[in-house]
Order: sequence, then C-alpha cells, then structure tokens
Amino acid sequence: MGHDVLVENHTTRPHHVAVVGSGPSGFYAAAALLDAGTDGGLDVRVDMFDRLATPWGLVRLGVAPDHPKIKSVSAQYDKTARREEFRFFGHVHLGDDEELRSTGEGGGVITRDELLERYDAIVYAVGSQTERRLGIPGEDLPGSIASVDFVGWYNGHPDHAALDPRLDSERAVVIGAGNVALDVARMLLLPEADLRTTDTADHALHAFVASGVRETLICGRRSVREAAFTTTELRELDDIADLTVVVDPEQAPPGIADDDTLTKGARRNLELFSGWAQRGPDPDAKHRMEFRFLRSPVEIRGDGRVEEIVLGINRLETGEDGRTRAVDTGERETVTTGLVLRAVGYRGVALPGLPFDDDSGTVPHTEGRVEGHDREYVVGWIKRGPTGIIGTNKKDANETVRHLLADLAERAPIERADDHHEAVEAWLRERCPDLVDQEGWEAIDAHERGRGEPDGRPRVKVVDRDHFIELSRPR
Ligand SMILES: Cc1cc2nc3c(=O)[nH]c(=O)nc-3n(C[C@H](O)[C@H](O)[C@H](O)COP(=O)(O)OP(=O)(O)OC[C@H]3O[C@@H](n4cnc5c(N)ncnc54)[C@H](O)[C@@H]3O)c2cc1C
Repeated sequence: MGHDVLVENHTTRPHHVAVVGSGPSGFYAAAALLDAGTDGGLDVRVDMFDRLATPWGLVRLGVAPDHPKIKSVSAQYDKTARREEFRFFGHVHLGDDEELRSTGEGGGVITRDELLERYDAIVYAVGSQTERRLGIPGEDLPGSIASVDFVGWYNGHPDHAALDPRLDSERAVVIGAGNVALDVARMLLLPEADLRTTDTADHALHAFVASGVRETLICGRRSVREAAFTTTELRELDDIADLTVVVDPEQAPPGIADDDTLTKGARRNLELFSGWAQRGPDPDAKHRMEFRFLRSPVEIRGDGRVEEIVLGINRLETGEDGRTRAVDTGERETVTTGLVLRAVGYRGVALPGLPFDDDSGTVPHTEGRVEGHDREYVVGWIKRGPTGIIGTNKKDANETVRHLLADLAERAPIERADDHHEAVEAWLRERCPDLVDQEGWEAIDAHERGRGEPDGRPRVKVVDRDHFIELSRPR
C-alpha cells in the first residue's frame, strides 16, 4: 500500500524546474522540458528567470538590428512562453552578493540556495555576460570599446544604453575576425534608409545617422583562411548601398579557393574575398570596409583618448598539434583612428556557489550535469562557451534536458505543500518588487511593436528600467 502511494506521488506530483536566463538556450531547455511532460506523462512546470525585464537574451540584445529574420526566431520562444505550465519572471537576478542587493536592481536578487529549496532542478542558461580582453596598453582609453558594450548600446540593453560613444572619427578599427566584428563594422556603415527600418535603439539610431565614420578596418590575427565569418554575412555586404569592400590582393590572391581540403563554406568565403581583392576599391563609394589579415593589436595610443593603434604584423606557423598559430614578425604598422572596437570573443562569468573554469569561462559539466552538483544543469554559452549559431543551442539544451529528466525520474520527489506553485510566486513578488511577469512582458512587447508600426520598424525599444516597470503594471 505504502509503495502504491509512493508510485502515485512520483508520477503525479509536478516537477518544478527553474531556468535561469531567457535567451535561446533557456527557451530550448524549457520547450524540451515541457514537451517531456506532454509526450512522456511527466508533469513538469517551468519558471524562467531573467535579470532583465525582457526575454530572448542576445536575440533581442545581440543579433544585429538589420537582421530581422534572425531575430524572428523569438516567435518560437513566444509559443513556449504561452504554455500553461510556463511562467516568466523578469527583473529577477540570480546572485548572492550583498553589493548586488544594493545596486538599485529593485532588491530583485535571489540566491541559488533559495532556488534549490523551491525547485527540483535548476538549469543555468545565463550565457556569456562579458568580453575577453586584449591585454595591451591603452585598452581602456576612451574611444576603445568592447563589442559587448557597443552591441548592447545599439540594441538597447539597459546596462549599455548610456555608453554614448563618440562617432566623430572618420576611421574605426575593429579587432576580431568573426561575425560580431562584422556586425559592428557593418552597423557603423549602414545607409540611413536601411537603419531607419530596424529596431536599432533610438539613441543609437540618431548617433549612427549623425556619425562621421566613413571607413571600418577589420583586423584578423591569422590569415583570410582562418577567419570565422559566415558566408551569408559576408555575401550581404555586396547588397549594401554606397559600400566598397577592400581586400589586399596579396592576402586573397586569385585561385586561393581552389583547394580540395577546404570545406564548402571556407571555399565560398575565399571566393568572396579574392573577388573583392581582384575588383579593387570603388573610389566613388561613400563608405569603405577594409579587411586586413595577419594583424594583432599591440598598443592603443592617445592623449586622453584613442588617437592611433599600433598593429603587429604576423606570419603563420603550424604547431605540432597541426593547428595554425599567428606569430609576431616584429614588424609594426600604425593606423590613425579615434575609435577601436574590440570583438575578440565573449566570456562567461562565474555563478555564486558553482564551479567555474577560468580558462574557458564556462561551468564544468558532463553533458550538461554540473560537476559535483546534483539537481543543477547548464545549457548554452555558459555550458560550451561563446560559439555556434542560435540553432546550436537547441541540440545542446536537448542533451542537458535528457539527463535532467532521467535524474528526475530516478529521484524520490521532494514533499511540497499543495499550494507550492502559488507560494513561490508570492515569495518572488515580495522579494522582487520590480518583477515583470509574462503578462507584463506582453504589455511591453505590444507597446514597442505599436510604436514601431507607423515607421515600418519591428519595434521601438524601451531601455529604461522604470519605463519597463510602468508598462508592465496591470492597468
Ligand atoms: C553580437 C552577437 C550577434 C549574434 N548574432 C547571431 C546571428 O546573427 N545568428 C545566430 O545564429 N547567432 C548569433 N549570435 C549567437 C547567439 O546570440 C547565441 O548563440 C545565443 O544567444 C546564446 O544563447 P544563451 O541562451 O546561451 O545566452 P544569452 O542569449 O546571452 O542569454 C542569457 C540570458 O541570461 C540572462 N542572465 C545572465 N545572468 C543572469 C543572472 N545572474 N540572473 C538572471 N538572468 C541572467 C541574461 O540577461 C540573458 O537574457 C550572436 C551573438 C552575439 C554576441
């Protein structure tokens, strides 16, 4: 008899899972958890937390505004958010630092222990919140800006809205040879007509329209062959009005793509680069985007702000492990500029109480199970580092959730009061007075879309914390 009761409890008691972070990986994990309920007879409830009022992580605040199709992946996340077993709680910051409690985030801090008390499992989907550093003199001079800040600024991230970068330098230098570098360089050169149909935050839109930047110089450490741009992002450069792409013919000679060992993507990229190199710059184009490879920043110089950057010229060497490395030749090149944008990779931040691998900026785990911690799991960039496209996070979240569900099925359920679900919400509302729930977010979303509509923009973003709170309150 006692055994029967246990089995009944085991199968009917809801499993409460907290997902911390509402970017792609959090939403893919939530969807997989809720599907398990529908398909596998498990009753799973998901509460998703974000320190911001708005969900979708880098889909809202990272992906470039002139890529609305990519941003529209958020419609999938909306579908998950509308499920009955799902709740969203924005303006809730997971941390345990006293300082954090007093930073004006509306007291909206909850701790890991508090979540462990209330949930059967926690999935951390917090992404990579900071940026790798160059580690060179002058890196912190005004006018030298990390892409995390710049991207956050033009996308209306409340943490970066006040950045106010000076865009009066004719040339901007972008360090890095990946898609983030390309996004930043492209945003600086988009024609006004293209910008005006995007959801670029208004403060950035005005600054871009008034900008004096005419040229972006993108510098990669290794050669054109090792650059990490994707073909789609490169190809679209040819469709941008008034833009000429400049590549040194010596760095991308004819025939460079004729190599059977290359992947299809790499070959297409090289064809594009050598095409630009052979075509040469268009002297009549208003804007110029130049790629220069085998360059590493050595020093940023200036009297009180950036005036020039010294680049080291590299050659390539293949190590014993077969990997290609950039080696400094000792030669130098000085480039005049008032704006340096550093796009050399995002980096995860340690979470209180969890192990952290400082080298990779990730939480150590085995297929998503946090090392040495039962009931705690990771997905997305905090699990595997800042690589891959949005879709990569789905496969990755599915792997973690498979293990999580197997663990839940094996564990005796934690006893809970019948009104546990409601009690958790009441506790949260008391602890986090600025809390924005799903309904609140939907009101913000409707407001933003409504304001964008007359001008053919997807939305006009709200960036101010108090404005988010005001819009989210029931009327
Ligand atoms: C500039 C840029 C452009 C990109 N463009 C593209 C593109 O065009 N196409 C593409 O496929 N991919 C693109 N990507 C990659 C894509 O955005 C990532 O793969 C994806 O966002 C990673 O998802 P995530 O859920 O791990 O992290 P994130 O999207 O960063 O989400 C993490 C969430 O956790 C929240 N959070 C963090 N810490 C806490 C905390 N302590 N408490 C509560 N909440 C917290 C954050 O506020 C955030 O909402 C781009 C990335 C960048 C940086």
